[in-house]
Amino acid sequence: MSAHDRSRIGRLRGMLGSGPAKGDARSLGPGDGSGQAHLLLRDYERSGQGWFWSTDSEGRIVYISESIADKLGKKREELAGQPFPSLFDLASSEGDQVERPLPLIFSAHKTFSELQVRAATEEGELWWAISGRPQLDSNANFLGFLGNGKDITTLRLSQKDASRLALFDSLTGLSNRFQMDKRLGAILTAYKAAKRNCALMMVDLDRFKQVNDTLGHQSGDELLKQVAQRLGKIVPDNCEIGRIGGDEFQIILPDIEDRGRLGDIAKKLIDIVSQPYSIDGSRCVIGASVGIAIAPFDGIEAEELVRSADLALYASKGGGRGQFRFYSSDLHDQAERRRQIEEDLRDALAKDQIFIAYQPLVETLTNKVVGLEALLRWKHPELGVVPPAVFIPIAEESNLIGALGDWVLRTACADAARLPGNVRVAVNVSTMQFANSAFASLVTQALAASELLPSRLELELTESIFLADDQSTSDMFAALKMLGVRLSLDDFGTGYSSLSYLKNAPFDKIKIDKSFITGVTEPGNRNVAIIKAIVSLAEALDMDTVAEGIEAHDELKMMRALNVKQIQGYIYADPVSFEQVIEAMASGDWVIEPDGPSKYRADRRTVLRLIGLIHEDHRYEVMMRNISRTGCMLEGLIEVPPGTKFVADFGEGQLAVAVVRRSMGAMFGLEFELPLVDDGAGGLCTRNRVSPYLLASAGMPLAALPQGQYPLVGPGAMGGGAGGGFSMPKFAQVNDIARKALKDEG
Ligand code: C2E
Ligand code: MG
Ligand code: MG
Repeated sequence: MSAHDRSRIGRLRGMLGSGPAKGDARSLGPGDGSGQAHLLLRDYERSGQGWFWSTDSEGRIVYISESIADKLGKKREELAGQPFPSLFDLASSEGDQVERPLPLIFSAHKTFSELQVRAATEEGELWWAISGRPQLDSNANFLGFLGNGKDITTLRLSQKDASRLALFDSLTGLSNRFQMDKRLGAILTAYKAAKRNCALMMVDLDRFKQVNDTLGHQSGDELLKQVAQRLGKIVPDNCEIGRIGGDEFQIILPDIEDRGRLGDIAKKLIDIVSQPYSIDGSRCVIGASVGIAIAPFDGIEAEELVRSADLALYASKGGGRGQFRFYSSDLHDQAERRRQIEEDLRDALAKDQIFIAYQPLVETLTNKVVGLEALLRWKHPELGVVPPAVFIPIAEESNLIGALGDWVLRTACADAARLPGNVRVAVNVSTMQFANSAFASLVTQALAASELLPSRLELELTESIFLADDQSTSDMFAALKMLGVRLSLDDFGTGYSSLSYLKNAPFDKIKIDKSFITGVTEPGNRNVAIIKAIVSLAEALDMDTVAEGIEAHDELKMMRALNVKQIQGYIYADPVSFEQVIEAMASGDWVIEPDGPSKYRADRRTVLRLIGLIHEDHRYEVMMRNISRTGCMLEGLIEVPPGTKFVADFGEGQLAVAVVRRSMGAMFGLEFELPLVDDGAGGLCTRNRVSPYLLASAGMPLAALPQGQYPLVGPGAMGGGAGGGFSMPKFAQVNDIARKALKDEG
């Protein structure tokens, strides 16, 4: 160290610590400090914790510690004479402006402290906090700067982590709720001005809690990570994914309003999340439910859109798991209705509102009824017959399934015992019943009370029982087998459908779900080969096969060709009352001739709904009888010539341009210009809707789409509604037919 250096260090001493040094550079001249102080400073300098620097009046480096020169990968001599600010990377500010003023400060000869600067070195990015003060001579002439610096790289990194933590989910690396809210708010504000659309998906994992409870939290965490990775794979690039709570994810999809496309993304998402996971050597399966809302249709502001997507998610969960659902304003009523149903279900049994319908299982080769499936029905005083798909999930969530399940079991056994011959009765068992360790003894009691032969009772189980703990599942299987009852695997083809379940669990029968069979008669359908494989595996394992939901002759023929043993479906019989079963079986055997349409008609659904029909600028109200993706059958206008163009108004901004293809009296068939798409609830919807931006430009306030029909925008037409319009109607409307039909049917 030269004498010159020593003098610098001496002068720098004043810069250490908080005590301000008098601005006199010479007050700590050579020999002024004690030897101790020199040593300490040198030690400090060498330790690399801090370093010193000084410049001349031009800001050029006069002195700089060795340690910093090393870090910058330079020799001290090389640095001498360079402008001090040039050591740092002042442009790359990462949004912090702290380092920017350095050259300014320099030219203004100002004191500064703890200024954060960075430099990109070979070892990576380094950060320092530098301080400096101007040195003046006795005439107050500026001599240069004198200063120190310290390494704050680690501190910076942890600060960055902390701010990352505030915006990101540490488990999955996805944005967290706070960040998603911020993003969504920003996007919607910008999009509102630009009249752009943005979809929002809420994703909730089905059965995640079960995995978490059985495999432990660590596995749960691992599962969430894997889910996050899978989501990343299927979501379009410009979308943002976040985890906003335990097992809840949110996806922002800018510039998509096409519900066909969104439905496809949701299906793909549910599909990929439902594939099995391998976690620490254990395999597990979960599912996902998705709710979708689109701005500006279902909400203008973030809060409103999130609420809509949440409501759609809630509905998709309520409609059975593994579904997606678009928001629609009548979901508000549905949420309320669900609460009502739960309340009413509590005393439905006591009020005698629950009964069983029996659907025959028919031997494919002989048309002979060999079994009856007991299907729960609930006759609600106001809602009419509520289907089990609606109330069973509610019963499961509100712990009512135990009592209901026990009742079905006892009643079905007692009913079956009264039937002649050895027709079997099949009873559906919910996973929650199966998980109850007392279940086998409940079955024993039902058998004992009815004196039904155990071999005449079939218990229908679904794959979801395998999600529970292995040991108790196999114990329950063993206990039931001991009783001599038969076990069926229900709804095969809807869940994960592992053939290994068949090998490892003692099933006597496998029921192939309707959704797996739908479309098998269409050329090139891949399920045919799979059904073939299932049938031959079942044969090898000595199991029966049943095809569910057979409605048409072509499907029946196919099932026969595939060697499926039994058929359950409308082609033989609907579910009927026990009295009808007794009557049919009075003479012993019950043989049914199949009766149904010759061909399966792809997704023609029977409905009964009033819709609006716009022709020129007149609106009619007609009754819709059935609907498919490509068209619908309507009633209510007399002798409409084929070729007439209409705009069908399905409500909530759903307009479809359509042409009349057939016409007979007051009935006429429309073909849509653009096919409809799945609405996720088993129904259909239009891909696009009338944009609130468009309505706003026609003078209405910008708001989410209102319930009901599209207001014909124009003088006198804002009210919309039946028969509204402002020109003479071209066609004679027969409203009575429509209204009467609606009244008759309920
Ligand atoms: P599942 O066990 O798969 O029952 C077959 C369903 O398919 C029945 O619906 C039946 O009416 C319907 N089906 C039969 N043939 C055809 C056909 O040709 N075409 C069509 N489209 N459908 C057909 P349902 O009665 O509405 O029952 C729905 C589900 O509710 C049942 O599916 C079952 O999972 C559940 N469920 C019914 N009763 C009970 C019960 O007592 N306990 C439990 N835990 N679940 C039940
Ligand atoms: Mg069943
Ligand atoms: Mg089934």
